[in-house]
Amino acid sequence: MGKIGGFLEKNREENMCDSPEERVKTYCEFNPLMDELIAQEQATRCMECGIPFCQFFCPVSNVIPEFNDFVCLGKYKEALDILESTNNFPEFTGRVCPAPCEEGCVLNIRNMPVTIKNIELFIVEKGFKEGWIVPKLAKKKRNEKIAIVGSGPSGLACAQELVRKGYSVNVIEQDEVAGGLLVLGIPDYKINKGIVARRIKLLEAEGVKFTLNTKVGRDISFEALHVEYDAVVLCLGAQLPRELSVSSSGIKGVYHAMEWLTQTNRNNREHNHNNEKIIVRDKNILVIGGGDTGADCIGTSIREGARSITQIIRKCKIENPQTGFNSNWPYSVKEFDISTSHEEATVYFSKENIREFTSVCTEFITKDSKIVGVKLALVAWEEIRGKRVSKIINGSERSVDVDVIFLALGFLGGNLQGFEGISHGDDGCVKYDENYRTNLRNVFVAGDTRIGQSLVVTAISEGRKVAKRVEEFLNK
Ligand SMILES: Cc1cc2nc3c(=O)[nH]c(=O)nc-3n(C[C@H](O)[C@H](O)[C@H](O)COP(=O)(O)OP(=O)(O)OC[C@H]3O[C@@H](n4cnc5c(N)ncnc54)[C@H](O)[C@@H]3O)c2cc1C
Ligand code: SF4
Repeated sequence: MGKIGGFLEKNREENMCDSPEERVKTYCEFNPLMDELIAQEQATRCMECGIPFCQFFCPVSNVIPEFNDFVCLGKYKEALDILESTNNFPEFTGRVCPAPCEEGCVLNIRNMPVTIKNIELFIVEKGFKEGWIVPKLAKKKRNEKIAIVGSGPSGLACAQELVRKGYSVNVIEQDEVAGGLLVLGIPDYKINKGIVARRIKLLEAEGVKFTLNTKVGRDISFEALHVEYDAVVLCLGAQLPRELSVSSSGIKGVYHAMEWLTQTNRNNREHNHNNEKIIVRDKNILVIGGGDTGADCIGTSIREGARSITQIIRKCKIENPQTGFNSNWPYSVKEFDISTSHEEATVYFSKENIREFTSVCTEFITKDSKIVGVKLALVAWEEIRGKRVSKIINGSERSVDVDVIFLALGFLGGNLQGFEGISHGDDGCVKYDENYRTNLRNVFVAGDTRIGQSLVVTAISEGRKVAKRVEEFLNK
């Protein structure tokens, strides 16, 4: 332990964050790095508990107490070595991970948890600054060839693990850029795309080949792939959107959230806003759905100059507990969550809350096939035979004018069109065994395609695990 009783002396301090007024002016990341002194002080709050619940809650099992200890002592290279032993891309997780580790932190019972995520980011960025993060070349080359389909965090982690073992690795990606949702899904203000490009360069230097603009099942046949390669890993993500029960087919102005987020990410990347299909400037926006994707639609629409934004959510609003004691530890108590986008909306629109809970859309109102409004209704929740169900409250319906609607209702599985012979469920999730193997002999699956829409850190963990199974398979 860096300092006995450090948590008694120091309160939790997080990365400074720009004000909402400043943030919405640009797409820049708004969490500058922790400076060295604060990182050291914050790391002294870690008590090195006998059972590190933080590590247990981290999907890649980061060895958190140990890296905190090295940060306290100013031994940053040692901290980096420990961090890299479990996490392929701490520069991604240090930015976008919701930090389930901090929920498990023992301090979280009665105090504020150690700021683990910020310390992780401090360590990895220190490593880049000092030139400690360099390509790690395999000691021995192997003959086997592996194709990884999809370059999101699961595909990238799998590629890094296998190329460092000496295998020849080809990552095939349908988009023009590698990185999956890190690049074309998550907005720039959460992760700058240069951060992903920096890692792709390192992977290339380690020997990973990236074949971009190539969709398996369209540009290359899936069958040819699993005949040509010794092993194939499907890391396609889970990007099939869940649909609303009210049909929006043929209506202009109703879009899936990802159409919007991909467009803005792509435009920001190419510095070109001339080919926009979706325009929100001066428009009244309705976001349907309450998760992170919905929040990203809000933050992005504010930056693009929307006139107003309303978000409807079917669920009830969670009331915050007032006890100051986490009776649910090591799990968190469910709290009313205010994302940075909601904070920004409050300031930007001078409106306390843009969210309407227990609210659903019952009808789209159109004029000349274009959306001009919606009918919204309130629902009441009740428990029927142990299951929570919602019912529309009679007479609660009202009409609201809207110009653009974003559907952010979550995701089903991956798009498996053209993947002949692969067994999958109706939701698009590929069937697999305990070794991450599909029904085809040399074809594996990992990431959101295997487990459904998840987190970047879970995808990294998936990539690491599937790489191990592929190696075992090739060495049999
Ligand atoms: C809007 C949004 C915001 C999010 N924000 C966060 C966040 O803040 N923090 C967090 O931890 N998680 C976040 N997530 C979740 C996280 O991004 C995903 O869980 C993670 O990226 C999944 O990684 P993956 O490798 O499984 O798939 P993906 O990142 O989806 O990558 C799959 C890749 O496969 C490619 N592909 C698919 N089919 C083919 C084919 N036939 N041929 C070639 N290539 C193909 C795709 O183009 C894509 O590049 C967010 C998700 C969304 C949608
Ligand atoms: S990857 Fe996420 S869960 Fe793991 S230590 Fe970092 S912030 Fe915590």
